[in-house]
Amino acid sequence: MRPVEKCGVFGIFGHPEAANLTYLGLYSLQHRGQESAGIVSSRDSTLHSYHGMGLVSEVFSREIIASLPGEIAIGHVRYSTAGASHIKNAQPFVVEYSRGSLAVAHNGNLTNALRIRDELEAYGSIFQSTMDTEVIVHLIAQSRERSLADRVVAALQQVKGAYSLVFMSDHELIAARDPNGFRPLVLGRLEDAHVVASETCAFDLIGAKYLREVEPGEVLVINEKGPRSIKPFEKTTNSLCVFEFIYFARPDSIIFDQSVYAVRLALGRQLASEHPVDADVVIPIPDSGFPATIGYAQQSGIPLELGLIRNHYVGRTFIEPEQSIRHFGVKVKLNPIKDVIKGNRVVLIDDSIVRATTGRKIVKMIRNAGAMEIHFRISSPPITYPCFYGIDTPVRKELIAATHTVKEVEKYLTSESLGYLSREGLKECVGDRDHSFCYACFTGDYPVPIPIRPEESQMTLFDREDRNQ
Ligand code: AMP
Repeated sequence: MRPVEKCGVFGIFGHPEAANLTYLGLYSLQHRGQESAGIVSSRDSTLHSYHGMGLVSEVFSREIIASLPGEIAIGHVRYSTAGASHIKNAQPFVVEYSRGSLAVAHNGNLTNALRIRDELEAYGSIFQSTMDTEVIVHLIAQSRERSLADRVVAALQQVKGAYSLVFMSDHELIAARDPNGFRPLVLGRLEDAHVVASETCAFDLIGAKYLREVEPGEVLVINEKGPRSIKPFEKTTNSLCVFEFIYFARPDSIIFDQSVYAVRLALGRQLASEHPVDADVVIPIPDSGFPATIGYAQQSGIPLELGLIRNHYVGRTFIEPEQSIRHFGVKVKLNPIKDVIKGNRVVLIDDSIVRATTGRKIVKMIRNAGAMEIHFRISSPPITYPCFYGIDTPVRKELIAATHTVKEVEKYLTSESLGYLSREGLKECVGDRDHSFCYACFTGDYPVPIPIRPEESQMTLFDREDRNQ
């Protein structure tokens, strides 16, 4: 199990249908994690919780939602990472300790979790899961501060890395974002209730009004007296995850105070300026390539066509035919429209290249559909380093751009040409004038120290936990 918490979080305080609205919020955040989902609510000093493996729609039924009463709730969707997935790692994480009950939902990745865990275990703490989130819970339980807010602050002052967190007790909701602000977290209002979520698309579905971001380094305590903001950390520079704009967030969300869609359009336009080509059609790789492709078509004047159609109903497993079909895996998901492709010079657009394995199969598919030329364009720079702040990326040697030049990647893809967006272009598109973003996956400049060398496997960081499973 690799404890990468590439996830979505949601919380609501002060609404009679708290659990139901959390369910809807998680529905909108499903793209941030499909491995497991969970909701915790509170009534009469008791926390009620339900977790399950799979999609939100698979985990929850009307009856289960009805069994989660109260006016406070938090929820979590967890990303499917490499390795074993296990229900005990499903969040929100719920504990009973000397001061009552506590639940927490985490998006991010702590960089000093293992060191703290070792120390805590040396003093007798017993861990129930392999999540780095549990480290925070132990630190809260051990704190001598009186209020939950103060205990949360005391715990967060000891952890490092990326976190957007939502805590709840039986009478309070607390949202917190790490001082660098790696992952997004937004605050909204629905009638008298306050809501927090990873992205604003969760607010749109429940009819909540977007108020503002939870700021980097802010701890927001929401109880019957309303929200109270604490800024307990030393000021540091922001390191907003630029990959949220490139790939991860939903295009209809506002995160980091900007429209994700507008940024992706700008990336596509910039890509067309940097890598123009004589071609007949521009085709997006669904779905993540869509907005950048629109931008590319607008800037280049080359007509946009839907040349690849995605089947949205592909489940986790499918039964392959015994006689192996070439590129079966990608065919289940994508199918070309031959009329659009045949005899044409095609610009094919995707948001990023990781291993290039999917890209290579798609190029073959477009070629088989009769393309004359294929020009691959990527609306981000080459990914050359793994993320240690909550995006699930493979180890460095599996990132094709870490070990191959652009020309070599082009050869591997078998496309006529390949063009990546420049780092400068990316910076300009996100309006980064004061170095507010994290580009570590493109540069290897990690704004918060990572516990191992990036060349090493992230697995080595947590392999002891594997053995514990
Ligand atoms: P590949 O062709 O194997 O390099 O895969 C690239 C595809 O993976 C692109 O379409 C991206 O949208 C998608 N992608 C990029 N980053 C991630 C990630 N962290 N998790 C899952 N998919 C990703």
